[in-house]
Amino acid sequence: MKYLPIFLEITKTPCLVVGGGTVAARKVGQLRRANAKVIVVAPELCRELSVLADKHLIQYKCSDFNEDELQDKTLVIAATDDATVNKYISELANQRNLPVNVVDNPELCSFIMPSIVDRDPVQIAISTGGASPVLARLLRARLESLIPSSYGNLAKLMQKFRTAVKAKYPDMQHRRRYWEKILQGPIAEMIYAGQQESALNALGKTLSEEADDINKTGEVYLVGAGPGDPDLLTFRALRLMQQADVVLYDRLVAPEIVDLCRKDAERIYVGKKRNQHALPQEEISQLLVGLAKQGKRVLRLKGGDPFIFGRGGEEIELLSSENIPFQVIPGITAASGCASYAGIPLTHRDYAHTCVFITGHLKDGSMDLNWETLIQPRQTIVVYMGLMGLEELCSELILRGLSKTMPIALIQRGTTSQQKVHIGELATLPGISKLHDIKPPTMIIIGEVVKLHETLSWFEPIE
Ligand code: SAH
Repeated sequence: MKYLPIFLEITKTPCLVVGGGTVAARKVGQLRRANAKVIVVAPELCRELSVLADKHLIQYKCSDFNEDELQDKTLVIAATDDATVNKYISELANQRNLPVNVVDNPELCSFIMPSIVDRDPVQIAISTGGASPVLARLLRARLESLIPSSYGNLAKLMQKFRTAVKAKYPDMQHRRRYWEKILQGPIAEMIYAGQQESALNALGKTLSEEADDINKTGEVYLVGAGPGDPDLLTFRALRLMQQADVVLYDRLVAPEIVDLCRKDAERIYVGKKRNQHALPQEEISQLLVGLAKQGKRVLRLKGGDPFIFGRGGEEIELLSSENIPFQVIPGITAASGCASYAGIPLTHRDYAHTCVFITGHLKDGSMDLNWETLIQPRQTIVVYMGLMGLEELCSELILRGLSKTMPIALIQRGTTSQQKVHIGELATLPGISKLHDIKPPTMIIIGEVVKLHETLSWFEPIE
């Protein structure tokens, strides 16, 4: 190990930065985040540093570097664009045993500055020992995506309860087990979901005499899995998928996405298969409640967004009445996913100022829609579950006044490697769709914006 990683307390200590450009500004930013007293020496300052100097947030000396500046400093950073000056600063600092960092020149550094993932008070420092700052940055980006942004809040909460937990569990082993449970259970999830107050109360309860079962109740995550491409999952969805004990999923969730769930999680299929009925809604809700009551972390994975034609609301009503902790994670709804991957903006200043999402589900063979609102000009209509009723939908819209030549798109299995897009006009598309034997899931988009597909299409499915 060439360098020893340490975390230095520099609150209010004088740190010298030589140089006034944007690189110096970056270093100044890092020092200020650690509450250092920053002194900048340079003949001129970039805009960012000037603002700080004007507000007296840094001390500024307008001059070239001079040896006397090193007096009484805790550390020094050389960030001038003159290699000779940087080297000179490094030599002088070394003679005085003053820690020195020369930007982009590890040879002249007695300390180097890592890439940082900041979840204050949690800090993760990454270094490649100067070998490849780009690699360090990439690594940082990966960690940023893995670690929930509210990790800091979690640490702060733990800090608040440290003494109380120590009093209740004097034995270190017990204490560690207690914290591990908290960190992997519903209380941590409450923090990630922004429910600070509930987390605080729940943590308090775990320490009280009577309530010892906070970690015995499970919880339910209602998660939107997006329209198909696994890359469109949210960070939170992926994290919950990798910690849930049991997963309930349905037909719309792509197998590649179900595969991303924790390997040993129990998987329960609750969707419709051919010749097999789906579990009725009440049974799914009951199942969620039952599993959570066994103390399990239950993931209900739904295609797209759970709150858009996904019956998400119905599924969690029972949970709420049974006081089971739950959270809802939005997903990219099929309308956005299909529109983006087909190069059809849903709104556009020249073509559409509004966009409506409707379901084309047939009830007793006909469509119960508010036709008046659908035929408004400069409006995009997005139809979920509309394939079966496509013919009826198109002829009804024409009958009510929409132009026969209004552009319409069918996007089958949008965002996946099997995506197929068919473009036509209201009067002719139903015929075309029969020719191509189009199958669900298919999204219908109607409106002038569909014309843009020709120029804005970018996604190239594999098949
Ligand atoms: N909650 C889901 C929608 C469920 S309704 C969401 O927010 O996306 C199911 C309908 O969504 C399908 O009938 C189809 O119209 C549409 N759909 C879902 N995934 C799709 C996909 N990958 N490609 C095209 N349409 C899709």
